[in-house]
Amino acid sequence: MTRQVLTILGSTGSIGVSTLDVVSRHPDKFEIFALAGHRQVGRLAEQCIQFAPKFAVVADAGCAAELAGRLQNANCRTEVLYGAQALIDVASAAEVDGVMCAIVGAAGLPSAMAAAQNGKTIYLANKETLVVSGALFMETAAANGATVLPVDSEHNAVFQVLPRDYAGNLDAHGIQSIILTASGGPFLNTDLAAFDSITPAQAVKHPNWSMGQKISVDSASMMNKGLELIEAHWLFNCPPEKLEVVIHPQSVVHSMVRYLDGSVLSQMGNPDMRTPIAYCLGLPERIASGVGALDFGKLSALTFQTPDFKRFPCLQLAYEAMRSGGSAPCVLNAANEIAVAAFLNGQIKFTDIAKVVAYCLEQDFADGSGSIESLLAQDAETRTRAQAFAARLSQG
Ligand code: NAD
Ligand code: MG
Repeated sequence: MTRQVLTILGSTGSIGVSTLDVVSRHPDKFEIFALAGHRQVGRLAEQCIQFAPKFAVVADAGCAAELAGRLQNANCRTEVLYGAQALIDVASAAEVDGVMCAIVGAAGLPSAMAAAQNGKTIYLANKETLVVSGALFMETAAANGATVLPVDSEHNAVFQVLPRDYAGNLDAHGIQSIILTASGGPFLNTDLAAFDSITPAQAVKHPNWSMGQKISVDSASMMNKGLELIEAHWLFNCPPEKLEVVIHPQSVVHSMVRYLDGSVLSQMGNPDMRTPIAYCLGLPERIASGVGALDFGKLSALTFQTPDFKRFPCLQLAYEAMRSGGSAPCVLNAANEIAVAAFLNGQIKFTDIAKVVAYCLEQDFADGSGSIESLLAQDAETRTRAQAFAARLSQG
């Protein structure tokens, strides 16, 4: 059997590390062409020494010099590249079969798009790509024979319980709706009066999942579920009115599909991203992921409840942006990235995140959804606006 040749973008992050953990269990199945780790040079050096990729990509010349020095000391022959174009190059290279897109934020868009343009198998963790440029990304992938496989646990769950031959038509398979489950994050039961004083340390402490900082804050505000609605909309060609969100604090049921005969199919498992990663990497086979068996004897009750938009205004903003379409989701995402960063560095309050996003969505913006260039311009313009508004909020 020939081994699948992989590029892993964002290899030093939470998803990247889980991906390499799965890969390391199957040396007969996978080989690494390139790893990209931005500024996390120490961890990337260790990964290069372990997996011996042909290329490693970092953010800039300074990081590149540091990484090259470390690799030389370890006799590792991985070639070091840097910059945004290098991410595109390692995602497009002819030798590569599959690309794990696990960069955080809209920064992951150009390289994911390059993988789509070059017909790769795309393991998509970077949901922001679909939020910002869903229509273009899916069209580009289809036009170039690229396969988009959802790594995000909810979408992976839906993908597992959709009919095998599902091709984007809910009605053709008697599907009534897609139900995304959400844990509700750390503040599901926090007194609303205490929301203003939520600290970054509290917000990144997710009850069930261990994830990067940005997505952890998004989970706490439920913007993550909002981004995931838009992600599901594009992945499954599902209209907004057929997308449901249900809060399920135990994170065991990873999502569900509701069929018109009354059946609801779900995928369950321990909350560990190595399961959806292994599912995607192994297709059409099931491969070991390292995730322990779900122990029903030890499970507490599985509970479900309806989300409250007053507690989670970001979820409502995302629903509205999805319904508006065009470049509203791009604006939503850019404003949220800036607001989350401003919250994490102590500039604004947790409750200001929704205010920054709402403010940016209320401004006039042109529809930039026609091309990647115009979307990236829209993204940049929104970031400037969001930054200015966050600065105003921080001054009271
Ligand atoms: P993380 O912060 O742990 O890792 C992010 C990775 O991207 C790191 O390797 C980092 O070096 C790299 N990176 C950061 N900024 C970059 C830039 N400007 N250019 C290039 N590389 C950059 O994040 P994560 O939790 O692994 O999440 C990655 C993506 O996967 C996000 O889009 C997130 O929404 C999605 N996702 C994550 C999880 C999870 O459990 N962590 C689950 C579902 C989806
Ligand atoms: Mg998810």
